[in-house]
Amino acid sequence: MTQLSSALPAIDAHYVDRRSYPHGIAFMDGQYLPMSEAKISVLDWGFLHSDATYDTVHVWNGRFFRLDLHLDRFFGGIERLRMKLPYDREKIASILEDCVVLSGHKSAYVEMICTRGSSPTFSRDPRQAENRFIAFAVPFGSVANKEQQERGLHVAISETVRIPPKSIDPAIKNYHWLDLVMGLFDAYDTGAETALILDTNGHIAEGPGFNVFVVKDGLLRTPAFGVLPGITRRTVFDLCAEIGLSAKAVDISRAEIKAADEVFITSTAGGIMPVTRIDDGAISNGRVGPITRRLIDLYWQKHDDPAWSTAIIYP
Ligand SMILES: *Cc1c(COP(=O)(O)O)cnc(C)c1O
Repeated sequence: MTQLSSALPAIDAHYVDRRSYPHGIAFMDGQYLPMSEAKISVLDWGFLHSDATYDTVHVWNGRFFRLDLHLDRFFGGIERLRMKLPYDREKIASILEDCVVLSGHKSAYVEMICTRGSSPTFSRDPRQAENRFIAFAVPFGSVANKEQQERGLHVAISETVRIPPKSIDPAIKNYHWLDLVMGLFDAYDTGAETALILDTNGHIAEGPGFNVFVVKDGLLRTPAFGVLPGITRRTVFDLCAEIGLSAKAVDISRAEIKAADEVFITSTAGGIMPVTRIDDGAISNGRVGPITRRLIDLYWQKHDDPAWSTAIIYP
């Protein structure tokens, strides 16, 4: 009998590791592991059926930003998907902190995931599945790179329609991303850097992992329907309230976004990021606008304010 291992070329574990995994620490099945060792069964329904919910919080200069809001959203998703975790909220917060501390990162992207798992008897009944919790901390990442942050992103509006809220409640943060990924391919085909896709009524919805805002005559607007209620989006509302700007969630048409004075996107992966081109036209004069700049500054200032962030205790 041929031994499988001898039939395979030797793999230098370190080589595979460096190519495929960022430096970081994961927690799963009760253990902390390097990212390269955090693996799930291919039979986990999280993988087979996208039957999972997750959340991502970031750490900036050794502090979690708005961790409570992320935990609220994560636990909300778990409840609606009728999942159960063996850990309570405090335990999960301490696991997330441990992942960051063990990784050594001062600025990190920290993800918590609950998958349906699988049934010990391979039953098809989701009630019999043993749900799985996974967390990890890797280096902070952003939708926009440094150059894009400075000059603004170039975005294309795709004809792809976001999965309707009547199919999947968008408040449950999820991995149903085929619409967003196809939107990205559409955008790349036109030379743009990222995509916005539409809601079921043809209005602007959101992009791959971000919400969008338009500024017109000093007023801020963001899509109301069919989008994930982002924590960064919520933070923009809170910052606007603080500095006396009006921000509302409403329907936004393609014509409206293109005629805006300023456009920006929001995500835990990067914060508030300017958009200066949509399809083949510039937004206003094609430069990052003053309200966007002001909100970006305020947003990052809040990262060391104890009312908005929590210190991590590194040994
Ligand atoms: C996570 C996510 C966002 C942004 O939410 P934040 O809480 O601000 O990071 C927007 N849209 C989708 C589909 C997302 O998954």
